[in-house]
Amino acid sequence: MMSTSTDKASIVAPTRELMASTVFDELGMERDSDNLYLQIIDSMLHAAEILEVPRHIQLILAQPKNEIMVHFPVLMDNGHYALFKGYRVQHNNALGPYKGGLRFHPHVGLDDVKALSALMTMKCSLVRIPMGGGKGGIKCDPRAMSQNELMRVTRRFVSAIAAQIGPDRDIPAPDVGTNAQVMAWFADTYMQISDKQNKMAVVTGKPVEFGGSLGREKATGQGVIDVLAEILPDIGLAFKDATCSVLGFGNVGSWAAKLFAERGGKVRAAMDHTGGVYNPDGLDVLALDEYVREHRGIAGFEKTRHGAEAISEEDFYRVPVDVFIPAALEQMITEEKASWLDCKLIAEAANAPMTPPGERALMARGVEILPAILCSAGGVTVSYFEWVQNRTNQSWDLEKVDDELNRHMVLAARRTQLARHRFGVDMRTAAYIAALEQIAQVYQLRGIFP
Ligand code: NAD
Repeated sequence: MMSTSTDKASIVAPTRELMASTVFDELGMERDSDNLYLQIIDSMLHAAEILEVPRHIQLILAQPKNEIMVHFPVLMDNGHYALFKGYRVQHNNALGPYKGGLRFHPHVGLDDVKALSALMTMKCSLVRIPMGGGKGGIKCDPRAMSQNELMRVTRRFVSAIAAQIGPDRDIPAPDVGTNAQVMAWFADTYMQISDKQNKMAVVTGKPVEFGGSLGREKATGQGVIDVLAEILPDIGLAFKDATCSVLGFGNVGSWAAKLFAERGGKVRAAMDHTGGVYNPDGLDVLALDEYVREHRGIAGFEKTRHGAEAISEEDFYRVPVDVFIPAALEQMITEEKASWLDCKLIAEAANAPMTPPGERALMARGVEILPAILCSAGGVTVSYFEWVQNRTNQSWDLEKVDDELNRHMVLAARRTQLARHRFGVDMRTAAYIAALEQIAQVYQLRGIFP
């Protein structure tokens, strides 16, 4: 059972010193609380201390196994060559091959990719799939590139990292700025240049016609809803009476919004990088989704005949809702934005969507936070199903995918709740504890080579 309003105090994070672990000293890591990677390792080590994870496992998990950086030239449509920088960070493979998304964005950098790869290790472990954690990206602006340029960038990146990835080694997937088409180019390139078996399984999130799984596109949003279905009754809410706002209306945000509305809830507000819209009685999210696909953003939706009004960023955050779903980028909810929020629950569909001061402010107000390693694990779970289907030449129907996903998400939510009550900690620490239990046990069984 979750806490009720009477025991809200128990969910407030202990006022501990940030980055207090002596692992930071032993590894010579700086204590920079603005660094996303260090923030995530700090939270993970805090949970590891509570669980009494052996010191050597804490040391291993505090650094990625491999950090790969490549530079490669690509011919652009204007006849000039541009030089791109790509990353693939392989955090941990104790449970299975590295797995994690590939991001195309102008702000992609090493520390953020490291941070996201560590989260992937924790996610895979929490939902108990036999995969490790990885993440990658290319520093580029996909919105400013033609489809041909995007294809050439993707193909050249695959050729640059081909020796370090593979269906048994490291399996990328879509993330911000990439989609099923990018994954199709990725798989095709790898299939041309590699002599490995099961080559198609080198990447997931492919189009359904070309080795993709039914249900993969909506999987991350679906996972958010599966977790909410498990948690909402504990705070006395049912979907049919619940309201939400969604920050980010790309793959994850749009699916979370559509599935929230499908369950009878009202999506009162949505915002992306182009603007925000609001309707206190619930947005027409299907129409909004169609509009965003056509216009590449929310801005202007208020001019259509779907009963929405434009809203400023501050007013978007201030809309009173039961559930706030961040589904855009990292670190967007600062302390100031946290002070604007008027919600009972935050379901982190995006990875690490809030800054530590933002998080502390919300917890001090008793806002429940469902962490990303739980809420946004649906994507990697169905990616794992896709990988299984590719390797066994099967094609699961949607019902099987949805049922299996639901089973994984519900069990992960229960594991987290159990850890929370066993150790008397907040949900984020509890999710890390439930993830670390599995990894620590596997390390104990495997031992350390040689
Ligand atoms: P996407 O590229 O499809 O969508 C990103 C959204 O964020 C867009 O709507 C964009 O407009 C919005 N956005 C960007 N900057 C913004 C700003 N300054 N203000 C408001 N909105 C802004 O990406 P996605 O795949 O939906 O990923 C969203 C988040 O979910 C990321 O944190 C990603 O790592 C995480 N995630 C994605 C998956 C997946 O399967 N795609 C799985 C797990 C986690």
